[in-house]
Amino acid sequence: MSFMVTRRKFLQTASLAAASVPLAKVVSAETGFVRDPFTPPGSFEGTQTVTGGVCEMCFWRCQLVGKVRDKKLVKLEGNPKSIDNGKSICARGNAGIKLLYDSDRLKFPLKNVGERGKPAWKQISWQEALDECGSKLKAVQEKYGSHGIAMFPHGASAKYPMDFFEKVVGTRNVSEASFFQCRGIRDSAYMATFATPPGESVDMPNAKAILLIGCHFGENVHVSHVKAYLKGLENGAKLVVVDPRYSASAAKSHIWVQIKPGTDTAFLLAIMNYLVEKDKYDKKFVAAHCVGFEEFKKGISHASLDWAAKICDVPDKQIQEVAELLVANAPNVSIHPGRHVSWHGNDFQRMRAHACLTAILGAIGVKGGFVKAKGVKVKGISWPKGEEGGEHNLRLMADKYHYSPPGTPTELIRDACITGKPYPIKGCVIWGQNPMQTIPGQQRTIAAMKQMDFVMCVDVMPTDITMYADILLPEACYLERYDYIKTGTQWNFADKHQQYIAPRMPLVDAMFERKDEVWITNEIAKRMGYGDKIPVNSLEEKINKELSAVNLSIEQLKKEDGIHIQDGKDPYGVAEDFEVLLYNEDLADNGYPAVPTYIPVEEVPKGFTRLVYGRSPVHTFNRSQNNVWLHNAMPVNPVWLNDEIAKKMGLKDGDEVGLVNSEGVKSSSKTVVKVTPGIRKDTVYMAHGYGSKNPMLTVGINAGADDQELITKLAIDPETGCNGMRNNFVKLVKDGKALDIPA
Ligand code: SF4
Repeated sequence: MSFMVTRRKFLQTASLAAASVPLAKVVSAETGFVRDPFTPPGSFEGTQTVTGGVCEMCFWRCQLVGKVRDKKLVKLEGNPKSIDNGKSICARGNAGIKLLYDSDRLKFPLKNVGERGKPAWKQISWQEALDECGSKLKAVQEKYGSHGIAMFPHGASAKYPMDFFEKVVGTRNVSEASFFQCRGIRDSAYMATFATPPGESVDMPNAKAILLIGCHFGENVHVSHVKAYLKGLENGAKLVVVDPRYSASAAKSHIWVQIKPGTDTAFLLAIMNYLVEKDKYDKKFVAAHCVGFEEFKKGISHASLDWAAKICDVPDKQIQEVAELLVANAPNVSIHPGRHVSWHGNDFQRMRAHACLTAILGAIGVKGGFVKAKGVKVKGISWPKGEEGGEHNLRLMADKYHYSPPGTPTELIRDACITGKPYPIKGCVIWGQNPMQTIPGQQRTIAAMKQMDFVMCVDVMPTDITMYADILLPEACYLERYDYIKTGTQWNFADKHQQYIAPRMPLVDAMFERKDEVWITNEIAKRMGYGDKIPVNSLEEKINKELSAVNLSIEQLKKEDGIHIQDGKDPYGVAEDFEVLLYNEDLADNGYPAVPTYIPVEEVPKGFTRLVYGRSPVHTFNRSQNNVWLHNAMPVNPVWLNDEIAKKMGLKDGDEVGLVNSEGVKSSSKTVVKVTPGIRKDTVYMAHGYGSKNPMLTVGINAGADDQELITKLAIDPETGCNGMRNNFVKLVKDGKALDIPA
């Protein structure tokens, strides 16, 4: 087994994502290539270009066109009309075609006639599957109450069923991985500071400086976002990257801060304290918009450069250099809010520090700063709010995690499942999420699943969690269904202000017995006695109704090549009443630090190293592991090991290893070592989402090692209840022997 992606290839992949992938012939929107299909050369001769695709190989949702021949999709490309991704799509977007036609995909409803975790599947009819789902969930509801049901949704197609279970069935036990294991802390912390979730709203193309903390563009590829980042660099922005690893972004940086993991808040506090002490903050912005400056100033006054340097294990002069670089380019500075921020269980405070630094630099509403796009809003149509539920809210009952993102912290749900307290949870609906590889503590997830009376999963592909389903339902994928209406603006705010509306429309028909979320949810609703509450009869009807609110229709969108574009609004400027809570009194009232505060993380025990993880440019975590094109591009997730440490251990590049954590949990599959000077001595890194265990995944099974399997120690963020996942320590295992990691 060997790692096939070199650093050069990584960087090439990154720049490819940002480069245009031209259509054979660009046809203007006015011409309308649906009505007048062009003939591409080579193997695409005889294909028809179908518009209206919206990618879901990741959450970025680039707009697509598909080349179709004999009702079969043969190629995907960016929609040339798009003012977002344009003609470009990334490697994963291209490989969507291999997901569509993956022979391991779920094709028919399946019933588990074996046991949970060791399933034996029997093909059954939709009638039988739906009857069983409806009756079993109803039985749980009648015996334990609506709160006896939990739901783990993910992705665009999970919204409609999530609304059904939350609003109509009435359970509050809904936990989205995107909130509780990813960006929820960021959104909550910015809400507690700016009163708005930040998204990825930094104006990088027009920035004079960009600060990335743990963000690795190039390995983390979202097309228009990477375009914005590269445009900023092309325009001369200075780049500061704070990362224990020499990431693709660090390789392009002017300053690389090789920080000790978990100490970023101390780094940010020292920068802010330096700016305040030296009188280098934006006094005008602070006076006009910031609340609690004096308390803030006092609260961070201990954070000297020297104090932070010792904690962060970086030179004090380098922290000063970063502070000076930021202020020299203020206010046109992009302090990127990040995306996956659930790291160490102290992350709400770090994200508050991001927001406060942005504010004291005055980098809000100005070119290059924190600027929210002014896109058009299309209201979704979903289930009416029911009478039930409400009081069985685990978060309120626990009286903690007062800054939780929407939904219920995963850990509270899982704990109730295992202990039966404060009430039993006996029915589980998992829709597009794979809690085995998104939630740390796999054995606890297994225990939660095993005690259920009934588990149903709906997905496009088999995953590690679908092995625990009683009934497994096959869903149409994003290329075969209507669903999400993507809205946004032109990717570069320096260009003409425009807005777009792009509903997802099928490029091909669904094959086998796959169904979409509206059909499946409605059928279950009827069987649970909620047929009278059904809001729409089909996804097409839902999208048409939603579009009608903005005077559009599917028919009209087809005429417009899948994307409606209209005049937009200037995104710059700050409302007079915009407030930044540098000191948040409400936080203090709830017993949390009111000023951003560094909370130390556990030190690495002797003989171990800290495990951190991140994205691969060619995978969307476990969701793409079985995709044969993407698998060939990066079949395993090498574990990055410092070269000096590797030498002491006698390990060399490409050696096959397993891992064992400080609680004795071993990885059940292996990966290879990547020996590099580009990582700290106290840290190892691997891409997340490898090492699937489901034998139905003939390509992805046991490919690489599963980092989540090794994340057994939980670090719950006190303000939000989200799971921090970088507080686990490992050794490498070679030839069956666990090797101590030297200092
Ligand atoms: S960034 Fe890539 S995977 Fe994500 S939506 Fe765009 S094309 Fe698809």
